[in-house]
Amino acid sequence: MDLESVDIMYSEKEVADKVKELAATITRDYQGEELLVVGILKGAFIFMADLVRKIDLPLAVDFMSVSSYGSSTVSSGEVRINKDLDYSIKGKNVLIVEDIVDTGLTLNYIKGILQKREPKSIKICCLLDKPSRRKADISPEYIGYSIPDEFIVGYGLDYAEKYRNYPAVCILKKP
Ligand code: 5GP
Repeated sequence: MDLESVDIMYSEKEVADKVKELAATITRDYQGEELLVVGILKGAFIFMADLVRKIDLPLAVDFMSVSSYGSSTVSSGEVRINKDLDYSIKGKNVLIVEDIVDTGLTLNYIKGILQKREPKSIKICCLLDKPSRRKADISPEYIGYSIPDEFIVGYGLDYAEKYRNYPAVCILKKP
């Protein structure tokens, strides 16, 4: 791995502990309920895979794919659905899993669409949150880490499709 271009922000072990902690809280909060966990591709795939294996509840998973940053590190604010959910969410407890919330525009859009489909409840779980960058009124119920305005790669997050397989959460060094 080209470790010279990144600085580690949270190690693999720290992230694993954080994911366990989030899953324990979610398990407690939804006792006696069933969950539909909705992952936002592609960035959430690793976080989601680790998270659901630590949630001790009956659950189903589904995925949505929306357009994101592409190869740029600056948000365009443009959100487009490339792949919608496979199943109805009517009457279900939906937990949206996202890698990182930045401006919040993506999640605001997704939450708005899903809310119209009449779920029983809808909450958001993100591994990383950059509150200083917020443009939309979105507050995830479950947040792994609140971080400053840095560009993050690793643990599912990419820069031009690279670095997703890095096990740690890393800061991409400026070129
Ligand atoms: P938002 O709509 O909240 O501005 O952006 C959310 C999406 O932008 C995330 O799901 C992610 O795909 C991308 N994004 C935002 N910040 C970062 C970052 O620091 N690193 C990477 N790799 N993607 C980011």
